[in-house]
Amino acid sequence: MSHTTDPNQPKKAVVLLSGGLDSATALAEAKAAGFEPYALTVLYGQRHAVEREAARAVGHSLGVARHLELEVDLRPFGGSSLVGDGEVPKDRPTESMTHGIPSTYVPARNTILLSLALAWAESLGAFDLFVGVNCVDYSGYPDCRPEYLRAFENLANLATRVGVEGEGQFRVHAPLITLTKEQIILRGRELGVDYSLTHSCYDPSPQGLGCGRCDACSIRLAAFERLGLEDPACYAGV
Ligand SMILES: [Zn+2]
Repeated sequence: MSHTTDPNQPKKAVVLLSGGLDSATALAEAKAAGFEPYALTVLYGQRHAVEREAARAVGHSLGVARHLELEVDLRPFGGSSLVGDGEVPKDRPTESMTHGIPSTYVPARNTILLSLALAWAESLGAFDLFVGVNCVDYSGYPDCRPEYLRAFENLANLATRVGVEGEGQFRVHAPLITLTKEQIILRGRELGVDYSLTHSCYDPSPQGLGCGRCDACSIRLAAFERLGLEDPACYAGV
C-alpha cells in the first residue's frame, strides 16, 4: 500500500474522541489546523452508552471523514473507579482534585488509546494524532504530561513500518495541554464546538445526565461559572 500524500489533499489526522469537552475541542483544533479528521472513540469502561452517543453527536456536528468506535473493555483489569472499581469521588475540594493521582486514573489509559490511534493512523497513511489531554486541571495524571507525549512520539517512529522506512514522522498533537478549562471553553466556542453535545461526567445517571459532583463535572461547571456562562450539558439535580 502506498502512503504517498498528494500535496493538494488535506492531511489526515486521527483524533481520539471520547465525547467529552476536551476531546471535542481537540477535534475542532485538528480541523482548524487544516487536517482531515478520522475520529476514534474507544469505549473502555462503564459509560459506554452515554459516551458513544456524545462522541457520535460531536463527530457529526463538527464533521469527520470517518468515525470508528472500538469496544476495548478495560473493566476486567480493574484498578480504577472509572471502570467500576470503587466509588467515583464526589464533592471534592479543588485542592484535592488538582493534587495527586485520583482513583479515576485508568492504568495506562492514554498509552492504550494512543496505541490504537497509531495503528489506525499507520494503515490510513496519517502521521498526526490529536488528543485532548490537559495538564493544568489534572496535574496528577502521569500520561497527560508533555514528556509522556514526546516519549510516545519517539515510540511511534520506532515501532511502525512507516516510521522506520522514513515515510514520515509521527506527531502527537495535544493542543489543549497547557490551557485552563476556561481557555479551552473559550477556544472551543470560537471554533464552533457545541458543548451541549458533550459529556464529561465520570458517573452519569442511567439516563445519561451528568452527576454534577464528580471531579470532571465540578471542574467543568466551575469553569463555565467563572466565565459567566451556563454549562449547556444536562445535569441531574443541579
Ligand atoms: Zn459527574
